[in-house]
Amino acid sequence: MNYDAWFQCSAGCDETYPLTEVIYRCKNCGGLLEVRHNMDLLKQRRATEWKTLFEQRYMRTQYPYGSGVWGKKELVCPIIDDNNIISMYEGGTNLFWAERLGHQLGVSDLWIKQCGNSHTGSFKDLGMTVLVSMVNQIMAESGNLRAVMCASTGDTSAALAAYASAAGIPAVILLPKAKVTRAQLIQPIANGALTLSLETDFDGCMEIVQKLSARKDFYLANSINSLRIEGQKTISIEIVQQFDWEVPDWVIIPGGNLGNVSALGLGFLMMLELGIIDKLPRIACAQAERANPLYRSYQTGFTEFHAITAQATQATAIQIGNPVSIHRAIRVLKRFDGIVDQATETELADAAARADRTGLFNCPHTGVALAVLIKMVERKQIRPDDRVIVISTANGLKFPDFKVAYHDVTPGDPPPRYLNTPLELEADYENVLKQISMHLEI
Ligand SMILES: *Cc1c(COP(=O)(O)O)cnc(C)c1O
Ligand SMILES: [Zn+2]
Repeated sequence: MNYDAWFQCSAGCDETYPLTEVIYRCKNCGGLLEVRHNMDLLKQRRATEWKTLFEQRYMRTQYPYGSGVWGKKELVCPIIDDNNIISMYEGGTNLFWAERLGHQLGVSDLWIKQCGNSHTGSFKDLGMTVLVSMVNQIMAESGNLRAVMCASTGDTSAALAAYASAAGIPAVILLPKAKVTRAQLIQPIANGALTLSLETDFDGCMEIVQKLSARKDFYLANSINSLRIEGQKTISIEIVQQFDWEVPDWVIIPGGNLGNVSALGLGFLMMLELGIIDKLPRIACAQAERANPLYRSYQTGFTEFHAITAQATQATAIQIGNPVSIHRAIRVLKRFDGIVDQATETELADAAARADRTGLFNCPHTGVALAVLIKMVERKQIRPDDRVIVISTANGLKFPDFKVAYHDVTPGDPPPRYLNTPLELEADYENVLKQISMHLEI
């Protein structure tokens, strides 16, 4: 079957462009482009047949179909030749049953989708495999791209650098100086990307990279490029698959540039259209209070939106004041009877630390989502028997300073709620035993 997909203007003029064209906005009206699929062809396969096909491929070895993304290739990007695919077996991430945390909060059916247990440690791998594979295809066919590039809050750049270097394609990375973690900074450097550290914030890097990408020989890898959304869409398909094709009640997603919340929504909508599911979950988007333009818009019933200057937050990957996917995210949230909530710095750090005590190791953005979960349970917006999925966006190991700072009290400051400090002791058996006994006393 020759499944087909193309870029289509999302602003209503319906102009279409091939996916191999180097283009991000409609030539007619400047609207963002979306990937559209020939749904009639996809519908010729019945829902049960899709499920069986996806089950057969899931986490198996036949390259590239064992990948969580490429196992759903027909629904993601059917026009890429398998030989051009650059995959690192992305997806297939654990759905962690947060039994103890859920018990503490009063929700028994709580699950954390561990999207950060991935090649470069964040969900960005899911979109980047699609984008870099497409660049690889374009270069194989016409060969006149010089580099892929992106502005990043640290995870997009890590993913782009890894996939580009696996493909042998030059990558250029624009990072806001001193606003990404050490781990995130060293990732593109290690992968050999040209890494530019700019004296600005993410929004400032984005402005420059958008200007650079007006040149046809540079390919823009930010999520303004909808190819990434197509890969990230598989998160919702995979979650449903992991529940034997049952749809959860709530999905809570941390949002910055708002590509991921859009992507998850589109994944559910596609499954609904193909009959793979018969209802939609509700979606909650979680923002840091210090970078909350979507939350502010939600407060106006989405009638208004104003870009803001994002303030410094521990949730650095979502420190974004002018999200590129704002309109598609609002469309998705309306369709999913969605809500938007926010978390303060203390709330996000406490929520991450609290969940860590039940076996997790959360990044600050997941902390934002967990803090919003806690508020929703307290408000009884989430009921005790609801099935809730929290999207964990990155691996906590990329954010050691966030955790070190939490558990390292400054004298004079009030200790955080879930503080755990190491004891420094002399190497003396009796004293060690005494201290253990003291601290284990109930
Ligand atoms: C990119 C990212 C986000 C935000 O996703 P958007 O699509 O920009 O909303 C959240 N958390 C982490 C760890 C990220 O890397
Ligand atoms: Zn248009």
